[in-house]
Amino acid sequence: MSTLRSYNPATGELVGEVPVTHPDDIPGIVERSRAAQPAWRALGHDGRALLLIEAAESFRTRSDELGRLITTEMGKPLAEAVAEAKSLASVRHELDEIGEALAPESFDDGRNRSTVYHDPLGVCTAITPWNFPMSMPAWMVLPALAAGNTVILKPSEETPLSGQAYADVLNEKLPSGVLMVVQGADDQGKRLVESDVDLIAFTGSRETGKHILRAASGGLKRVILELGGKDPMIVLESADLKKAAKFAALNSFRNAGQVCVSTERIFVPEGIADRFEALLVEATASMNQGDGLVDGVRVGPMVNAHQRTHVLAQLEAAVSEGAEVLAGGSGHVGNFVTPTVLTGVTEEMAIAKEETFGPVACVTRVRSEEEAIEKANATPFGLGAVVFGDDSGRTAGVARQLTAGMIGINKAAGGARGTPWVGARESGFGFHKSKDGHRQFTQTRVVTESVERA
Ligand code: NAD
Repeated sequence: MSTLRSYNPATGELVGEVPVTHPDDIPGIVERSRAAQPAWRALGHDGRALLLIEAAESFRTRSDELGRLITTEMGKPLAEAVAEAKSLASVRHELDEIGEALAPESFDDGRNRSTVYHDPLGVCTAITPWNFPMSMPAWMVLPALAAGNTVILKPSEETPLSGQAYADVLNEKLPSGVLMVVQGADDQGKRLVESDVDLIAFTGSRETGKHILRAASGGLKRVILELGGKDPMIVLESADLKKAAKFAALNSFRNAGQVCVSTERIFVPEGIADRFEALLVEATASMNQGDGLVDGVRVGPMVNAHQRTHVLAQLEAAVSEGAEVLAGGSGHVGNFVTPTVLTGVTEEMAIAKEETFGPVACVTRVRSEEEAIEKANATPFGLGAVVFGDDSGRTAGVARQLTAGMIGINKAAGGARGTPWVGARESGFGFHKSKDGHRQFTQTRVVTESVERA
């Protein structure tokens, strides 16, 4: 049996290995998952929630160890990795929300009385990326399981150990077969998509998302896709520039820019651009880079050499096409890309069009709000967007003209608890979280009887 080796991107050291699932074994795994589903469904929401809450508690007690695994496998700073693991223990609220979203609803129009049920679909597969190697699985596995489905998780081949550890924690309490893991890369992902699963929940790149949608169309399988982005940030003249620059640095460099809602394009009016850029360069200086296990490090390496090459190719092309380096831009060692600030980025450059997924803050100067809005929207992506400005209606007015799915005003794009995580245009197909998001893991059924009137 072949194995999948996982290397520490900061040091190149082997972290560990897992056996790879042979693609031909996948139909049998799906069968076992299907066989386990009726008993899991029969536990009802409360029975399932009880087990999931009990299991998830280990994410709190073991967060140091799990966080260390995340950092060594994909490079993010330890504090962020520990926080990621710990956050997975807090499932109670989401489970309550799922229970409410999936409770039967009654309708009566005087002629017909109907009940709408939200039944489990059966077997779901969750295919996940490496950038949040435990929380991305959790975002799909938890609502799928809570809805009464069984789940087959395929973690990214870059973070197989973190994905396995996530499932192992839950499997200490879950009945056998309810949550299974397939290890491997695109071959295993493709076979899962082709197999007899009822829903494919995918988080990853736009290209893979398109491939999955095509492959799933033959059987009209249910699909949820959370894909990449090219998030814009618009800084208005009225903005608190210090806050805006600090946010721009944090949101461009967090997780070394390997976040789906990283700030990838910054639009700033010419009149305030010099000051904003100076503040951004100052904020960038505090983003210490190094091995995520070292205290005080805020920016780790790229996940692998391929990602480093991709980011540096975009960076070098942008500079050769006229972008100016204000900070960083050189001294890249191993898998590390130095946090870099560019200005003079134009819309023709690859770095302005394709997802970078690296620590590069790209500034484009604009002459008007209209130009900023037009350029921010000039992308097939549509995940997040951010506007910084004063609290007059004008800032909110700009926010409403942006075509992304999630727009933050003076903050990151993510919404309040209970709201969906949603990508517009080519950044998503369906969405996560929220009542409507939870219902995507179910089949809606309507049972109707006529109402006898005397
Ligand atoms: P990726 O698309 O390369 O891989 C994601 C997963 O899909 C992996 O498990 C991989 O093995 C599997 N896979 C690859 N080809 C497949 C195929 N043909 N069929 C089925 N499965 C296949 O993405 P990645 O590099 O792991 O992750 C980074 C991407 O994820 C970025 O684009 C990022 O923006 C996106 N992302 C989006 C969100 C969101 O919420 N929208 C969150 C995190 C990451």
